Amino acid sequence: MMNNKYKVLLIEDDANIRSVVTTLLETEGYQVIWAGTCQLALALFASHRPDIAILDLGLPDRDGMQFLEYVRRDSLMPVIVLSARSGDRDKVTALDAGANDYVTKPFSSDELLARIRMILRNYHHRADSGKLPGGKFRVRDLVIDYDARQVFIDGREIKLSQTEYNIVALLSEHCGKMMTYAAIIRGVWGYPDEGSTKKLQVNMANIRKKFGVRPGEARYITNELGVGYRMNGERDDG
Ligand code: CA
Repeated sequence: MMNNKYKVLLIEDDANIRSVVTTLLETEGYQVIWAGTCQLALALFASHRPDIAILDLGLPDRDGMQFLEYVRRDSLMPVIVLSARSGDRDKVTALDAGANDYVTKPFSSDELLARIRMILRNYHHRADSGKLPGGKFRVRDLVIDYDARQVFIDGREIKLSQTEYNIVALLSEHCGKMMTYAAIIRGVWGYPDEGSTKKLQVNMANIRKKFGVRPGEARYITNELGVGYRMNGERDDG
């Protein structure tokens, strides 16, 4: 991945963080363009068509959420929020507004790079193949056969209920993206009701058990408590 040519739009008004992130990304071969205000970010988004944006929310002219909302009117460009706001509600709001992931400051360089790789890989894979949800999905030793509705780990079939399968398939279609509880519930059940979140958590616990994942381990699916779930498209990060 040292020679990738992805163009990253870094939206950050703090010069120190900007410098750290820019160095980090350039070392990995990314091309970085940056903006210190929401207004400049929108101009660069329009003129440079970046592959991905890393978005600070606390910007001097406008809230970074406005950039996200504007971009999402007609673009699927991946956006990773990188913010000091660490509340569940901030994360859920940004994710439901279309952010692909949310990283809080202070952040780990390795983790930020892993999230960027995961999102870009999945985004471009889907754009290239364009035959969702047919075919197969693979991440490490986990394989999903969408046509047969079967899931395998290390070649062994994992027997899932219909609902459990639907959850796993949905997460895999958005691999690398942190999906909020509400987004998963909409995708699987179509509508939320009082017990939806509990129902989702129960199903997820069963899935993890069937996958042979110990509590707290994030092998295939990461749970961010109070926020949602992400299928990991990278090496083991838990
Ligand atoms: Ca800021």
